[in-house]
Amino acid sequence: YPSSNYIENVIEFDPKIHTYNMDRQIVEDLEKAMVNNELFLVYQPKVQSHSRKISGLEALVRWKHPQNGMIPPGVFIPIVEAAGNKVFDLTDWIIEHVCIQISQWLEEGIEFEQVSINIPGSYITSTRLYEVINTNLDKYNVDSSYIELEITETSVVYDIKHAITAINRFREIGLSVALDDFGTGLSSLSYLKRMPISTIKIDKSFVDGISNSEKDSAVLKSIITLSDSLNLKIVIEGVETEEQYNFIYSMEEAPLIQGYYFSRPLTSDEFINWAKERK
Ligand code: C2E
Ligand code: CA
Ligand code: CA
Ligand code: CA
Repeated sequence: YPSSNYIENVIEFDPKIHTYNMDRQIVEDLEKAMVNNELFLVYQPKVQSHSRKISGLEALVRWKHPQNGMIPPGVFIPIVEAAGNKVFDLTDWIIEHVCIQISQWLEEGIEFEQVSINIPGSYITSTRLYEVINTNLDKYNVDSSYIELEITETSVVYDIKHAITAINRFREIGLSVALDDFGTGLSSLSYLKRMPISTIKIDKSFVDGISNSEKDSAVLKSIITLSDSLNLKIVIEGVETEEQYNFIYSMEEAPLIQGYYFSRPLTSDEFINWAKERK
């Protein structure tokens, strides 16, 4: 599958051996990282399964730590989130950089529908988030329809009433909201019906088994049928193989696909080349 030129997680960082002091150090270092240009964003395309056209991209943060090398977001984000409000500052940084990137791509005539931003569960109901998004949309002259917020099921379950209010406010001003990692949390189906979301992202774990297990493919298919009947846009995460792609291609719902089969997360330059080569 298409590879990327920037180096993914070169230096081994073992999440199992991190200690309280290491966690504190990470939170402290993150503040410096934002001003010292150690953070950068990569973008993973989402592709329409039938037409193979690009639909949108998901912004994913990378941290090149001067001593520890690449620290994966799956490691440092939970640590920073557990430590308190620093994850809000990080998210604000990401929102601003996504807006700058969108306005640059539009200026260069690059075509895409949306860029998705991961929002930590603890931040989604905050009025600060609402203000930061509006400020940056104004500042960089980006239309709200270019932004999709990705929130996880777990974060929504924590305070469903306020989550629904917050999601509605974002949707009213034209943003899309996706429920991320669908199927990894609890009581998934009842929440699907109640949440005012536009998009469902079906977790990779549902895709992993489809070539070997008829049960797994039946489960995936029924989630897709259900989501489609609720008029949700469907993204299937973690599609890696031709076999998995062919199975999804056979579905009339034509879900979107995000996975290494089409592309790994790319730097902006890599994405521009990727988009040009597909034309
Ligand atoms: P996620 O939001 O579920 O993001 C998808 C992850 O799956 C990304 O890992 C992506 O590189 C990976 N992925 C995509 N396609 C495939 C595939 O075909 N096979 C496999 N094995 N993996 C695939 P990444 O970038 O390491 O991010 C891990 C998690 O860290 C994300 O999961 C998300 O929860 C969090 N994260 C990443 N960037 C951000 C961010 O900017 N803000 C926040 N709040 N969280 C982020
Ligand atoms: Ca996500
Ligand atoms: Ca996900
Ligand atoms: Ca995930």
